[in-house]
Amino acid sequence: MANQIIVSKFGGSSMADEAAMDRSAKIAHRQNSSIVLVSATYGTTDKLLELINTAQEGNWGTCEKLLFNLREKHFDILANFTKDSDPTDKLKALLKELETLSRGIFLLKECSDKARDQVLSLGERMSSLLFSLSYKKLFPKKDVVLLDARDVIITDDKHTKARPQIDVIARKAKEVFDFSPERIYISQGFIGKTEAGHTTTLGRGGSDYSAALFAQAVNANVLEIWTDVAGIASTDPRICKGATPIHEISYDEASEMAQYGAKILHPTTLVPAMQKNIPVFVGSSYEGDAKGTWIRQEVQDKPLIRALAKRSDQALLTIRTPKMLNAIGFMGNIFNVFSNHQISVDCVTTSEISVSVSIDRSMMEHKALIKDLEAFGEVSFETGQALISLIGNKILSTHGLARDLFNALGEINVRMMCLGASAHNFNLLVAEEDCNVAVQRLHEKFIENCK
Ligand code: ASP
Ligand code: MG
Repeated sequence: MANQIIVSKFGGSSMADEAAMDRSAKIAHRQNSSIVLVSATYGTTDKLLELINTAQEGNWGTCEKLLFNLREKHFDILANFTKDSDPTDKLKALLKELETLSRGIFLLKECSDKARDQVLSLGERMSSLLFSLSYKKLFPKKDVVLLDARDVIITDDKHTKARPQIDVIARKAKEVFDFSPERIYISQGFIGKTEAGHTTTLGRGGSDYSAALFAQAVNANVLEIWTDVAGIASTDPRICKGATPIHEISYDEASEMAQYGAKILHPTTLVPAMQKNIPVFVGSSYEGDAKGTWIRQEVQDKPLIRALAKRSDQALLTIRTPKMLNAIGFMGNIFNVFSNHQISVDCVTTSEISVSVSIDRSMMEHKALIKDLEAFGEVSFETGQALISLIGNKILSTHGLARDLFNALGEINVRMMCLGASAHNFNLLVAEEDCNVAVQRLHEKFIENCK
């Protein structure tokens, strides 16, 4: 049994080419990772989706080009690591599987979600094979086990967004893993299978989630997420020059952050890690020595505002009904509609006769949702909104916070705000065109001036 179990995940940019793979392998080795999960090589999942669409449209000529490019890209990387026939045959078999599936989709001119997951799984299955070769070449003494993640990550059959079966995963992990300091398991993020054996995926960007599931299943000491930025920043550096790296953040704060458009972490990633109190490290495989960000249950420093997250393309949806006057169950009905359509609502405010919620603008196209809401009142939309979330500590009990916040915003109009549900966040909805300036002013006031 290794002393410490470290689960490390490397994203697509850390798998971009042979140099990125070597860099990532060195980090995994330095960190004594016990399990490494990888994403598909950079851009490959998008290419696989393009291949599916092209095949569905019946354009086999373009499919062949896409297949050719994918073949070239992966064989080019392989050639840097080995000339052995065994891995070459394995890569050939995966590409053959891809071609056969594409051909099937082309012939049928349709792609079921089950078939889609099978196609998408090939991205991670190819990259993990290549990464294991990079690792073996650099560290020949290590016992490298290339593990099929589907032997552990058992899910339901909700293809393209499958839900993990936590208890089964824990049981499988016990059967599969035999840790030792000389051994490293290399496997795929993003993919799983149903109990009946059909390949599933956890949704786009799901490899962080996979990593957290593995960490939870083996009771890891640390979960590491290696990406192309050196941790989480206090806000988007493209908006705000003063953005600084965050060295530590609590689970509570990070969870609020993930929901409001901080792209670094998948929103649900932390849940399995949090349940087991596993510290999560986020770092850059391009700057392996940079400090990165630690996400933990308990943190030393608890600033009032640690970070500002922004989410663009929001709409404010209002349901107005005179019936709400004293009506019991109105809110329940409305939220049932959202839940039936599996739509997550970010912010909510109510008045006597109306409820307003902020949602992704794309939901305006959701005709069935609107129709169901209309059963309870008049529905209207305001678009061109952006949500700003201030994330920190003691937000509910700090005197003068609202005064300072509105002073900093100056003349900028706040269309809606949500405060009160959590001591860790304060949300504002502002016009998209004011959003960047608002973030800059708030960042200066609450983060830069508080150092
Ligand atoms: N390769 C998958 C995607 O691009 C999963 C991941 O990278 O997290 O969505
Ligand atoms: Mg990714």
